[in-house]
Amino acid sequence: MRKVDVIQAILSDNNAVAEENRKALDAAGVFGINVMASPGAGKTSLILATAARLPDETKLCVVEGDLASSIDAELIAEQGIPVVQINTGGGCHLDAAMIRSALPRLPLDEIQLLMVENVGNLVCPANFLLGTHLNVVVASTPEGHDKPFKYPGMFNAARIVLINKFDLSEVFDFDLEYFSNGVRMLNPDVPIIPISCRTGAGMDAWVAWLLKNS
Ligand code: MG
Ligand code: ZN
Repeated sequence: MRKVDVIQAILSDNNAVAEENRKALDAAGVFGINVMASPGAGKTSLILATAARLPDETKLCVVEGDLASSIDAELIAEQGIPVVQINTGGGCHLDAAMIRSALPRLPLDEIQLLMVENVGNLVCPANFLLGTHLNVVVASTPEGHDKPFKYPGMFNAARIVLINKFDLSEVFDFDLEYFSNGVRMLNPDVPIIPISCRTGAGMDAWVAWLLKNS
């Protein structure tokens, strides 16, 4: 009983900070995206492949969340994209306070789009609002087609589901219909787009959707 109370207090506090973050993004005219996935699904690859396809007038910056290291942030910075790395020191998700601490270090007045790469985890990142406008969930074919059934909270929270590494779907016997049925059970109208960050397949459809919905 007491434990539940504590968790709820933390979540509502997080939501208040998320609301402040949302106001700061809105005031700067920045659209924020929370990219969530398990480790290795291709969150960083998605950010890089998306950046390469954005029109010139849509400037991007990135917040990278990881337990440790700045490996992903360095890949982003190599492309000339402003990036802030958050190391959670073992924490398995980003929260709104972490984003609040990153915002002053980003050139919000010069950009239109903020992509936040959450910590690789299909469980609790879905429970922590960050103040971003849209949740993108990246699944991938090597993980298997049963993930929507096993991690319903994550797929329920998605505004769009991308299935990365779709060029390898035959290798991994990935059943798109089974996967899609699992997603639709939770989230009937969410778009599901198979992509490959490696080959570029599906990327134009994703970027067109993003530009239309941001
Ligand atoms: Mg990454
Ligand atoms: Zn967590």
